[in-house]
Amino acid sequence: MLYIHPDECIDCGACVPACPVEAIFSLEETPERWRHYIPVNAHHYER
Ligand code: SF4
Repeated sequence: MLYIHPDECIDCGACVPACPVEAIFSLEETPERWRHYIPVNAHHYER
């Protein structure tokens, strides 16, 4: 899993087209079925 620091990401979207498997979404465009990963990503940086 790729983790993105939620405080450092400015949600510019530049990484979205760079992903070869279309697994990166802007925060607002994250499909419902993947939204549970948003807090999982944030929790990674709370450790
Ligand atoms: S959207 Fe992607 S490229 Fe833009 S700041 Fe966040 S992680 Fe970096």
